[in-house]
Amino acid sequence: MARGTAGADLLITNVTVGAHPGAAMIQGCDVVERSGRIHAVRPRAENPEPVEGPVLDADGRVLAAGFWNCHVHFIDGVWSRARRSETGALQRALDDMLVSRGFTSVVDLGSNSRNTLPLIARIEAGELTGPTIHTATEPIHPARGVPFYTRESVSWFLRWALPAPRTPAGARRAARRGLRRGAHVIKLFTGSYVEPDRIKAMTSKVADAAVGEAHQQGVLVFAHPSNREGLKVALDAGVDVIAHVPDETEGTESLLLACAAQGKRLVPTLHMFAHTVTKSPTYTDPIDQALRTFWESGGRILFGTDVGYMDEYDTAGEFEALHRCGLGAPEILASLTTEPAAAFGDTSLGTVEPGMVADLTLLETRSGDIEPRHLGDIAAVVKDGRVLQGSGELSVSGPPGASR
Ligand SMILES: [Zn+2]
Repeated sequence: MARGTAGADLLITNVTVGAHPGAAMIQGCDVVERSGRIHAVRPRAENPEPVEGPVLDADGRVLAAGFWNCHVHFIDGVWSRARRSETGALQRALDDMLVSRGFTSVVDLGSNSRNTLPLIARIEAGELTGPTIHTATEPIHPARGVPFYTRESVSWFLRWALPAPRTPAGARRAARRGLRRGAHVIKLFTGSYVEPDRIKAMTSKVADAAVGEAHQQGVLVFAHPSNREGLKVALDAGVDVIAHVPDETEGTESLLLACAAQGKRLVPTLHMFAHTVTKSPTYTDPIDQALRTFWESGGRILFGTDVGYMDEYDTAGEFEALHRCGLGAPEILASLTTEPAAAFGDTSLGTVEPGMVADLTLLETRSGDIEPRHLGDIAAVVKDGRVLQGSGELSVSGPPGASR
């Protein structure tokens, strides 16, 4: 491979970098990007050749692969005009909710496809700069099982569009319709809070049919379980990812062990429960314990916050909660990078190595011994060859318009 920086689209100089979570951190590196890919990661050159593109001086900060948030929603008012509204408001919302938190890929687990699909199209067209969005579009509910909080927020004339099939044939149709429209994953409410104190489970036949259709088309299925019954339906149907720890944990221990043993992945969203329901330990302690059960038995974790449903954008609370449940910084970093890439079967994302897509997240910390709290403090994100969200202290030089 050529060693030169001439022709580089971006040079990030003086970074501290480990190729993958847990790898030794090397200080004083240069990372060269060319045509959207990492071209080289190497010790900083004494006499660097001139670079054609911009140069970002990281001043010793830690560079990681771009972060994933595997549980988000685009349901706030700002997204409701995503097809037509001017780019300013949408860009600010993308920056505030996702980019400034370090996310270069997200999984939208339920939104109005009339908003999310145009949003994705505008990002792909380069009109907006944002993460890669994998969307479930409209989730599939149990028959007469739309959650109470969705009923409150969706106007009555749109409720008919929410899939809630009664039969296996209806479930297959709902999955097919979503995928034809542009969904990248399928989301099932296998246990739905139809009232604040009542959970309705999806029938196994409906769940089996939806999962069968999704897997036939090669897409992942995420399930929102809520309780033991919802988790059992999800596990029996063969879903790929559990979208929350069940918050009604009674009787879920053996099922969580089975999920771990079968390689199911789990998005904890621990902080969301504390933030949106109650911080009372009588509620949160059993949820923490359920995650520990899963994690300590070898379960695989994908980072996710449920932001969009939860109005708190700061990620610090989730990092703190995961750490409390036994995950160290390398494991949390894996849940943000290598684990989601593996779940989606994407071998071009997740590590900082030559040949990989140059989705990158630059942390504020300069410590080679990173702690979970450092993962919430983001200096910049590199996406599609652009440096985003650089704080005032970051120095980016080079052609004007190459960064913002
Ligand atoms: Zn959610």
